[in-house]
Amino acid sequence: LKVNFAPFLDERSVKVGAVFVLQDITEEERLDNMRREFVANVSHELKTPLTSIKSYTETILDGVEDPELQRTFLEVVNTEADRMSRLVRDLLELSNFDSDTVRLKKNEYNINQMINSCVFKVKVTADQKRQTIIKQLPEKALIAVVDYDKIEQVILNILSNAIKYTGEDGQIEVELRTGETSEWFDIVVMDTGMGIPKEDLDRIYERFYRVDKARSRALGGTGLGLSIAKEIVEAHRGKIEITSEYGLGTKVTISLPFQETLNV
Ligand code: ADP
Repeated sequence: LKVNFAPFLDERSVKVGAVFVLQDITEEERLDNMRREFVANVSHELKTPLTSIKSYTETILDGVEDPELQRTFLEVVNTEADRMSRLVRDLLELSNFDSDTVRLKKNEYNINQMINSCVFKVKVTADQKRQTIIKQLPEKALIAVVDYDKIEQVILNILSNAIKYTGEDGQIEVELRTGETSEWFDIVVMDTGMGIPKEDLDRIYERFYRVDKARSRALGGTGLGLSIAKEIVEAHRGKIEITSEYGLGTKVTISLPFQETLNV
């Protein structure tokens, strides 16, 4: 609450009263803090890879005799540049949602096929960790009106998270099912990974919020994946829900309407 005070004077400058203005600035202040925090986060996230790019290029420029070592340093520069690209790509996408310039390109698609193709794309990574991916798809193909690229991006992001935050030999399950009413369908991804502590669950969709910053960075994450997934799902008038048992696993449910108005 902001209080403004001004004395009320008569023509001889004698105080005869006062004006108080009470203003509720909590919401305004909250948004202001969020903006400040966001800018600080973006700066920090960009500065970390930049610092490392700068120091490695300087070392190479000073002269590295061993070609093996030089290559190792260049690989670090390359990886860090990739990280910056991912970050900028994600920030641009969020900014498009913020400025309402996202136009969904909706059409009818076979969601069974979409899931098969997503699982195929992430399978290499899961195989490297000897993880099993189990699919549970309805026998009859499920057809829905969605923006293919965007919903595919959500599924790939959720599946990649499940793989990233689950250890070796873990299990990932993807289920596609019709929701409680016939107007909705659910895509459910379950893992047997590290889980998310209860106190973090509410904040998990916030931009740059991560349970374990160091781990997420080491795994190449930007901390923006779930914020983008939420924007995409909500733009389809759907819902995303995450439940988790810390140390046991996580379950992500994306509920989407079958039929959405085309090209809105
Ligand atoms: P990141 O790029 O860090 O993975 P996300 O926005 O995709 O960013 O996820 C935010 C955070 O949520 C992650 O850093 C991680 O702490 C947590 N998280 C997401 N998915 C899972 C999961 N399947 N199991 C455990 N933690 C998860």
